[in-house]
Parts: sequence; structure tokens; C-alpha cells
Amino acid sequence: MNTKNLNTWLEISESAYAANLQFFKKRLPARTEFSVVVKANAYGHGVRQIAPLAVQYGADSFCVHSLEEAFQLREMGIEKDILIMGHVPLDLMEEAVRHNFRIALFNREALDRLSEITRRLQMPVRVHLKLETGTYRQGIMAEALPDIINGIFHNKWIRLESIYTHFANIEDTTDHSYAMQQLSRLEDQFKKIKSTGFDGLKIHCACSAAILLFPETYFDMVRLGISQYGLWPSRETFVSYKTRHTQNGEDVLKPVLTWKTRIGQIKAVPAHQPIGYGGTFHTTRPSRLAILPIGYADGYDRHLSNQGHVLVHGKRAPIRGRVCMNMTIVDVTDIPEARYGDEVVLLGRQGRENISAEMLAGWCGTINYEFITRISPSIQRFVVE
Ligand SMILES: *Cc1c(COP(=O)(O)O)cnc(C)c1O
Repeated sequence: MNTKNLNTWLEISESAYAANLQFFKKRLPARTEFSVVVKANAYGHGVRQIAPLAVQYGADSFCVHSLEEAFQLREMGIEKDILIMGHVPLDLMEEAVRHNFRIALFNREALDRLSEITRRLQMPVRVHLKLETGTYRQGIMAEALPDIINGIFHNKWIRLESIYTHFANIEDTTDHSYAMQQLSRLEDQFKKIKSTGFDGLKIHCACSAAILLFPETYFDMVRLGISQYGLWPSRETFVSYKTRHTQNGEDVLKPVLTWKTRIGQIKAVPAHQPIGYGGTFHTTRPSRLAILPIGYADGYDRHLSNQGHVLVHGKRAPIRGRVCMNMTIVDVTDIPEARYGDEVVLLGRQGRENISAEMLAGWCGTINYEFITRISPSIQRFVVE
């Protein structure tokens, strides 16, 4: 790993990722398929770096959003099953069938197209039926279900492998009654569908929060997203977990990502000067400022302007003025040892300090999921120890 020639890069901790996967794998019964969600460039961590680690440390299969993401995994040589959870445009459906991906089915239009394709090609397709249980996003309404089931039943090429759903309100609260309602709706529908002649039918519903909190949601497969990367789905999930477990939940998940840059210029600026676009910050004292070659085009959100800080020599350096497209100004007046070329941590640990994805998300008025998935895919990622 040579980072001397880079303005910014990400480091993926293999030991942290391995520990997270082992933590979850240990909790799952043997019959439960351990699927990892690597949509959105593996939540910004880099699917090229994460997918091989996932295979190495025990993931059974992958979930992605799009056909393109499924292709990317295949091109990397990943041979495990891949469930495409998002919308596949009808004109691309034949490609999905030919490549034997698992396809999330949630509408009549896709079923009709799959029927036509599979009959013409004489090729089977595995579908996972996405049921509406109260999220009112992608999913088949209960009223539409008999018709869809009938359509599947009468085409021997369409293999109904599993039904599934996704919880609406499991992260945002410590009251899980709505999630439990969704769970019981799913189980009811499962029994009904199974009894119409789908013997080996499977069922899944668990995202990270469900895996952390509710073993009764494991069934035949889990879909582990954010927590494989060592992040809690929310503060509420963390609190709920801690109230159920005596050991300190703080250490259970290990954040995998560190985001770094280097100081590109240092300058001394007099007191009472406006800093950056719009002059939104004024120096209150003679100041040393460091200019970082990183900005909102890299995913370092503009909401961090005058809000966030970075780590230099293990100390906190506040952001001054606005984050620009490709540059950010920080105050290193109180870090006299800071020099041109020094490493700067934007996200992660340096010395005894830490900037978490949750802190960055908080400064930006969003959630850790959004902050990490918007880190630019063009930044180089390295797997480190
Ligand atoms: C993204 C996603 C997941 C993973 O959720 P996490 O909270 O990141 O674990 C699971 N299932 C579906 C349908 C998803 O879209």
C-alpha cells in the first residue's frame, strides 16, 4: 500500500471485518443461510475489497440492489448465490435469468416477463417473493397475492425459493411492536402459501437490527447489512441490545473503515480574517490553517462546514469555513507539530481519538448509512491489518 501519491484513501480493517462476521455467524443456527448485503459499493466500503473478505470469513451468499451490482460480483469471480433485491428493468430480465441470479419478485409485470422468458429459453429462474407487510415500499399487497401465486404455480420454470419482507420500524425505536406485527403477517402468509403446494418454501426477513435483537426472525436466511461493517443501525438498536445483554455492547461491533487524507498546505493567517467561500468563519486569533485536498465531491459532506473536525497527530482540528468541492480548511493552531504532508483522519481512529460515522452523520443531520454510502467510489480502498 503506497499512499504517498494519494490525496485521500480508505483503509478497510480485515481483522475488524473478520471479527464482525464471526460474531454474527456464531449467533446463527446451522440451517440459516448467512447472506451479506453489499449494495451501494458495500455501503461505501468498496465491494472489491469487501466481497472476497465476506467469502473468506464465512458468508454463504450475497444480496445486492441491482443487476449491475450482481454482474460486478460475478466479474470479480464470486460464485456464491446473489439475490437482486431491487427493481430489474423488464428489458434486462433475460440477462438476470441467463445468469441464474435470484430475483426479488414484487409485481405482476415482472412475473409476466419472467414467464415469457423462461418458457422461451426453457430455463428455470429462482424468485424470492417480496411481500407487503406494512412498510409500503416494494412488496406485493395481500390482495394481489393469490393471482401471483397462481401464475408461479402454473409455470414450472419459475421456482419459488423463498418469501421475504423488510421491516419499516425496527431501527428508529425501542418499541418493536410494529416490527412484531409485520413478522406475524409474514408468518401467516408463509403458512398460506406453503399449504397451496410449495413444500420446500423458505422465508427470510432479518436485517442487522433484527439479527442483533430478535433470534425469532432468523428463519432460513438473514440479510446482514450495516453491522457487518461494524456499525450499529441506530442508537435505539444499540440501547435495545444493551438492555438485553449483560456484556458491554460497545465492543461487540468493530468499525471497519478509516478514511484518510494529507495536509496539502499550511499557512499562518492573522486574526479577524474571513475564511473560505462566503467568509462564514472569521479567525478570532492569529491562526495556523491546514488545507486538505478533500471536499464534498469526495463525499465529505458540505454540511460539515464549520461543524465537524478531523484528527491530526491524534488531536481534533475543527473545520473552518465551508467545505468546498475538493478542499477543506481546518484549524491546527493548537497542533503546532502539524506539517505539510501529515496524515489526517476524517473518519476513524488516530491515537486515542475517534471520529465515528455516527458523529459525521450527526453533524450532517443524517444517519451513518447515508454518510458512508456517499463516500465517492473513485477513492482508492486498501485492505489493511
Ligand atoms: C439494505 C437492506 C437490508 C440490510 O439492512 P441493514 O439495516 O443494513 O442490515 C436488508 N434487507 C433489505 C431488503 C434491504 O434493502
